Amino acid sequence: MYFVPDGTERCGFYECADCDNRFLDTRIAPTLVCPYCGKEVDMEIGPDEEMPVQRESAKLIEMIEGTENVEKYDTLLSLAITGGDFNWID
Ligand SMILES: [Zn+2]
Repeated sequence: MYFVPDGTERCGFYECADCDNRFLDTRIAPTLVCPYCGKEVDMEIGPDEEMPVQRESAKLIEMIEGTENVEKYDTLLSLAITGGDFNWID
C-alpha cells in the first residue's frame, strides 16, 4: 500500500484543485490540506510573523469502502504517480 496502511477499510479519495494530484487519505473530510502543494502550519514561526493560512485545496471526490477497493485505488493511484496510465478513472 502506498497512500494508506495495509488493511485500511475506508478512506477518502481526494483531488487537489490547485495541483490536480489525486490521493487517498484515511482522514475523511470534505476538504484537506493537499500533501503535495499544501503547507502544514509551521509551529516554529515567530510571534511577529504572519500566521500561515492552511489552504484546504484537496476536495473529497468519493469515499472508498472495503479493503479490496481501497487496495485497488491505492495501487492504481500509485501506478499513476510512478508513470502509469492516468486514464483509469472516468
Ligand atoms: Zn495540491
